[in-house]
Amino acid sequence: MSEFKLEAIKCKNCGSGLMVEINDFVTYCTNCGSGFEIVNGILQPIEVNFAQPARPAEGEIVYKPFWILKTNVTILERTSSGGFLKNLFGGHDGAGGAIKFYIPAFRLPVDNMREMASAFTIKDPVASPQKFNVKVTGFTYGREDALKIAEFLLISFEAEKSDTMKTFRYDIKVDSYEILGIPFYKLSNGTMRDAIIGLSV
Ligand SMILES: [Zn+2]
Repeated sequence: MSEFKLEAIKCKNCGSGLMVEINDFVTYCTNCGSGFEIVNGILQPIEVNFAQPARPAEGEIVYKPFWILKTNVTILERTSSGGFLKNLFGGHDGAGGAIKFYIPAFRLPVDNMREMASAFTIKDPVASPQKFNVKVTGFTYGREDALKIAEFLLISFEAEKSDTMKTFRYDIKVDSYEILGIPFYKLSNGTMRDAIIGLSV
């Protein structure tokens, strides 16, 4: 993987030089913990945090970026009732509620993307993300992609338990977009397994 340093990019908070890989549109300052989204060449602050490994070590750790979308979902109309949304809304199945989506921001096959985003969103396994002195690179999907994938998940959660879904209308408001670095173990067979839930990709 090619990597290069853009001398011109300096942390807006502490002035440290920032390492940016080709195509990455988010950069994290390991010196002061500031995160920046690069929008049209301009650094916009974005919250970047990391999760601690929760599973026994299986190999070298790499941190992969996830979008965290803190949303409020309002159900406008439905003709069926899925079971998954009830869990996400904290046990009630009314007109909506808060959902924190975990959407991989790195390139994944579609099936892995769906599995990983669903499992993390349903479990919400990272209670207290922290600042680590590590790098996170390999950003592929931007925030517009992340929102589309979140909406796809929402519809699939609703449809999961029903063969007869006819109508499902909703409104989704994103309160914040953040980045969460999730630790993965590099396995000897060339695949990776996340160090939180234990899914292979
Ligand atoms: Zn900094």
